[in-house]
Amino acid sequence: MQVDVLNANELKKSAPVFGQLSFNDHEQVVFCNDKDTGLKAIIGIHNTVLGPALGGTRMWNYSSEWEALNDVLRLSRGMTYKSAITGLNLGGGKAVIIGDAKTQKTPELMKSFGRFVDSLSGKYITAEDVGMETADMDTVREVTKYVTGISEDKGGAGNPSPITAYGVFMGLKASAKHKFGSDDLEGKSVLVQGIGHVGETLVEHLTQDGAKVYISDINEERLEAVRDKYGAIIFEGSDVYGAEVDIYAPCALGATINDETVKRIKAKVIAGAANNQLADELTHGKILRERGIVYAPDFLINAGGIINVYAELENYDRKEIMRKTENIYNTTLEILSKADKDDMTSHFAALKIAQQRIDDRKNQNLK
Ligand code: NAD
Repeated sequence: MQVDVLNANELKKSAPVFGQLSFNDHEQVVFCNDKDTGLKAIIGIHNTVLGPALGGTRMWNYSSEWEALNDVLRLSRGMTYKSAITGLNLGGGKAVIIGDAKTQKTPELMKSFGRFVDSLSGKYITAEDVGMETADMDTVREVTKYVTGISEDKGGAGNPSPITAYGVFMGLKASAKHKFGSDDLEGKSVLVQGIGHVGETLVEHLTQDGAKVYISDINEERLEAVRDKYGAIIFEGSDVYGAEVDIYAPCALGATINDETVKRIKAKVIAGAANNQLADELTHGKILRERGIVYAPDFLINAGGIINVYAELENYDRKEIMRKTENIYNTTLEILSKADKDDMTSHFAALKIAQQRIDDRKNQNLK
């Protein structure tokens, strides 16, 4: 048996966990290690004031453990605000599994992860995220009840992506109303970047509403399929960000609004599904505002998925899921008006309202 000797000097030199940039008063971070199955996972519990920390599990081939930690810290914080702004009684959490979902995911690994989730006794409830399928959640369900997003025949709410897309559509229409004075998308040009599970359904809603839809993706086959199905136009330019369109809908990866792109964007409205779209939420949100670009906060308009899985916990039906998701329209209008009135970025306006709800509940609990 080999025993690693801890080098105290080395530890002092490294950045302490609580000092990490993305560490934002997280309540608990759990490192899960299981040699037998090869599981290396991190569960981030950001805040549980409003309820149990619910958030998906992402399996990704991170280039380092620090990158994985950073991701889970950022994503779990995002979940706190997403649930708070949506009015759900849920806290914020997220999990990451380090590894390649295509080659390293096994039922044993998923069950091992599920047992770690179970050991938290419901403080964290998991769901699917990038690299996960409904079937994986069904496997996790075999060892813990603290999982949502399981298949419909096992009592779950099924695939959340169509609901997420509908919520994004609602937020996009509200943003159009705020910017252009009408939410009628007839003749408006929209560029959807990433036409995966969410992006494709968004394209469907947009084309049905009469928008001129441009699509961009790294997957050529999908581009052709979505073009043929909905009559969308494949974006042929070399610079997606500089595209002359009315609305840009980021539905691929996060941080696409960054130092490189923020000044190139020609769209007048940004509304999409991707999480953490602003690489730096202070700087880039401010530049968008100064440039007169209306930005729909991602964590507000992509909440359809969490509304869908929340139904599994609260036992509400499809009608209520759609009603709650439709309400994203009103909340977006409210946030965008507040941002103008208080002269702040829309992202910050949304964060403020969400934080207020958490603080109110905390004060109530203390009474
Ligand atoms: P997905 O993996 O099904 O689709 C992503 C698409 O983006 C793929 O078609 C991929 O080829 C494409 N893509 C990747 N890199 C690209 C690039 N550089 N340029 C253009 N296209 C690129 O994912 P999804 O479930 O549709 O989710 C999309 C985004 O929305 C993700 O950021 C996700 O975190 C977020 N989100 C999804 C849900 C949900 O319910 N699925 C909920 C909330 C947030």
